[in-house]
Amino acid sequence: MAKKPAAVEGTTKVVGIFGDPVDHSLSPRMHNAAFAELELDYVYVPLRANRRNLKEAVRSMRALGIVGANVTVPFKQDALKLAQRLTPTAKAIGAVNTLYFDDKRLVGDNTDGVGFVDALAAHGLRARKKRVLIIGAGGSARAVLHGLLEAGAADVVVANRTLSRAAQLARDLSRRDSRVRAARLDLLDDFDFLETRQLVVNCTPVGLKGETFLDYDVDSTPRDCLHFDLAYAEKPTPFLAMAASRKRPTVDGRYMLLFQGAAAFKRFTGRRAPLAVMAKALGIKLPG
Ligand code: NDP
Repeated sequence: MAKKPAAVEGTTKVVGIFGDPVDHSLSPRMHNAAFAELELDYVYVPLRANRRNLKEAVRSMRALGIVGANVTVPFKQDALKLAQRLTPTAKAIGAVNTLYFDDKRLVGDNTDGVGFVDALAAHGLRARKKRVLIIGAGGSARAVLHGLLEAGAADVVVANRTLSRAAQLARDLSRRDSRVRAARLDLLDDFDFLETRQLVVNCTPVGLKGETFLDYDVDSTPRDCLHFDLAYAEKPTPFLAMAASRKRPTVDGRYMLLFQGAAAFKRFTGRRAPLAVMAKALGIKLPG
């Protein structure tokens, strides 16, 4: 049974999440369950900010004794300028999703890429040498591509509605030992290409408002091609529903949320995250 959260005392350390909106966020539930499990004197709270007061809000962390924070939509890029030091990962991705203090300096890090790769590994897929299709070229695609390249993916194609954005992403993150190409969305029904993919990642919000997914020929992918949607909802997203209906293995975005949260938890507390408890708080199970 999940442990009850401890009472907030005068000694309790505060961690939060900056976002707008932030009321839908599952992070407070996930982190508070982890604090309770490890009997840590911490509490995780939503911190709603807006573009006008974000700087003031982040600066106030020190004054208020807030020991760390996550950053979500739409502030991940704004937060880059507010940290006193950036990790190489945050710099490369160009966004911050985790703020914590190290030696009194506010550090900006990004755990989205590693969270994605850890979620894959939990489902038995090592990114090393894999052939991947990323659909979308926005902020989350940047983190996913960075995570995949760090983990040794060999051949990644980024297909996007706006080709120039995918091309920019490929240029920004390409490295010598991996092949990254940009493409238009019409690649999504190219049999010769799709039959070579081992992983397809949806980094667009398409389908979340009830619309059908893009024109994508899932049947052309190999039977064991893993389909990962960063988005998640009460029901399987249209992208995952399509993949599941053709018997392809699927993973939803809550797994990335879990593993990016676990990496952030380590930064906030110095402790290893209790994954099973955090997964349960998100309504998912650790595979295996
Ligand atoms: P961005 O707004 O930065 O990027 C959106 C991308 O989707 C762009 O590439 C955009 O293409 C594309 N897109 C949007 N609408 C359409 C459309 N109608 N047809 C084709 N392409 C479209 O969003 P993010 O990258 O931040 O987020 C993407 C999704 O990932 C969201 O659903 C978000 O909730 C989820 N997410 C989940 C996380 C998790 O932990 N599970 C973490 C981060 C994000 P174009 O460039 O042409 O505009």
